[in-house]
Amino acid sequence: MKSLMPQLAMTPHVAALLKLAGHAGFVANRRPAETPAPTDAITNWEGGVTYSPAVVVHPRTIDDVVRVVMDAASYPSPVRAVGKLHSPAPCSADDGGTMLDMTGMTRIIEIGHDFVTAEAGALYIDVAEELARRGKQFHINTEIGNVTLGAVACAATKDSSLIGTSYWGQISSFVSGMKVVRPDGTVASYNETENGEEMRLLRSSYGLIGVIVEVTLRIKPLTAIWARHRVFTLEQFRAAVPSLVAEGKALMMYFYPFSGRVMVEERREVPGVKPTSSGRWWLRNAFWRRLGPMFTVLIARGSPNRAIEYRVRAIYDFLICRWTTFIVGGNATKPHLQIIRHSEKPGPYKFVFSMWSFDEAHFFATLEAYFRFCREYAERTGFRCDLPAVGYRMVADKNALLSFTHDAPAMSIDPASTGGPGWDAFLKAFNEFSSAHDGHPLLNQTKHLTPEQVAKAYGDRWSEFAQARRARDPGDRLLSSYFKTLLQSAEPDQTMLLA
Ligand SMILES: Cc1cc2nc3c(=O)[nH]c(=O)nc-3n(C[C@H](O)[C@H](O)[C@H](O)COP(=O)(O)OP(=O)(O)OC[C@H]3O[C@@H](n4cnc5c(N)ncnc54)[C@H](O)[C@@H]3O)c2cc1C
Repeated sequence: MKSLMPQLAMTPHVAALLKLAGHAGFVANRRPAETPAPTDAITNWEGGVTYSPAVVVHPRTIDDVVRVVMDAASYPSPVRAVGKLHSPAPCSADDGGTMLDMTGMTRIIEIGHDFVTAEAGALYIDVAEELARRGKQFHINTEIGNVTLGAVACAATKDSSLIGTSYWGQISSFVSGMKVVRPDGTVASYNETENGEEMRLLRSSYGLIGVIVEVTLRIKPLTAIWARHRVFTLEQFRAAVPSLVAEGKALMMYFYPFSGRVMVEERREVPGVKPTSSGRWWLRNAFWRRLGPMFTVLIARGSPNRAIEYRVRAIYDFLICRWTTFIVGGNATKPHLQIIRHSEKPGPYKFVFSMWSFDEAHFFATLEAYFRFCREYAERTGFRCDLPAVGYRMVADKNALLSFTHDAPAMSIDPASTGGPGWDAFLKAFNEFSSAHDGHPLLNQTKHLTPEQVAKAYGDRWSEFAQARRARDPGDRLLSSYFKTLLQSAEPDQTMLLA
């Protein structure tokens, strides 16, 4: 289904109609019930998830959002706000419902001394670049940049925690205020000083208790990042972590299960120091954006058999690690240059990933088991991930009800690959492995979750979320089938309640 927006904007008839309707800039692409199913369904960024909403709306104003939420006859439930559809899990839109594409609401409303307020469709990288021009920055520089503020305010994100300074590793923890259109169409503003509990709920609400229309994030002066990469064996890394943490280093990892190695990105902020160098982050970014998946695919294509492919890839991985340790980093790198602007659609060379986090206390036992799991899985099925898994170390963080590091510092394992046959089956097996190792999944970034896995990971907090959601949206105006399925074990039984 294509948006009609470009055609509509061009014809004088449509302009007149929109003016008459009194909401120019608000465009709905409505598919009447009798039209055939769309041939070009909407997919997430990498194409692994397909959505067939009945209506797609591109709001430009808060009033546009209110009008949609209040008019269930024209805009069928569920109403699902979406950003750039980068989530690998089907958490965004829903079949048969209304997709509210927020990417037209991009205005930066105010930049203060230590905060920025912007519309929910503004891209993280666009705002980061504007902040940098003014000598300011976000506290967290995720690798991905083309995600919307609305999404990162209410869905899980991760970056290695800069423990000595910014501390948290999840963007929503720095969200200090939000303006929300609630399921009944009323508009409410919340801030962390006056509405602590509601903010805690909203920070992991995935569009289920309101459409976020404005977001306020805490910011700080642009600060230099010291960064370097080092390669360890698994045992060396396990031994090094306590001292790396004691030195205040943020740790992001690349895991190589078949060679038993770990490449570690160590970062620390240098407060008071102005950033001066690029840190050659652009080289790392180019690999994430295209070069990494491209070389990986070309190695597979150029190898006459699997044995040679694996040998060539081992040499390639070794060289990449070597070069990265020499090239990427510096004493005073610019923080915002870590953020990547991915292409709108990935084309033939892309990476896909999933993620679980594990409490730090038992992380290394889990990581060793993961390396074994990958080898055994490859032996049994012939499938192995063709890119390294990555991982992040994040501090314990209770700012969001469904924080994946709620009760303890955690480290994650994010398998990555170029996709293709075998990837989804591997993810299902990895989910079983991770759940058995008491991990926490991310509802937007972990694919193929079962209700049991989510209930086990989030326990009482999942039930608390279910109750809070139902209290705020008893008519299920915003509830998608994905979340309905995951929530079924945690939702109070309505027949019991009525009795
Ligand atoms: C190539 C790639 C690289 C990535 N790298 C990283 C990374 O480095 N770090 C990281 O943390 N994540 C990363 N991600 C994952 C990504 O950051 C998250 O999935 C993020 O939520 C996507 O944001 P989006 O704007 O695409 O939102 P969507 O995927 O469209 O939506 C995400 C969720 O937010 C809800 N939502 C969106 N907007 C609103 C709104 N205005 N009001 C209410 N609810 C809303 C949606 O309903 C959905 O539940 C990456 C993903 C890809 C594909």
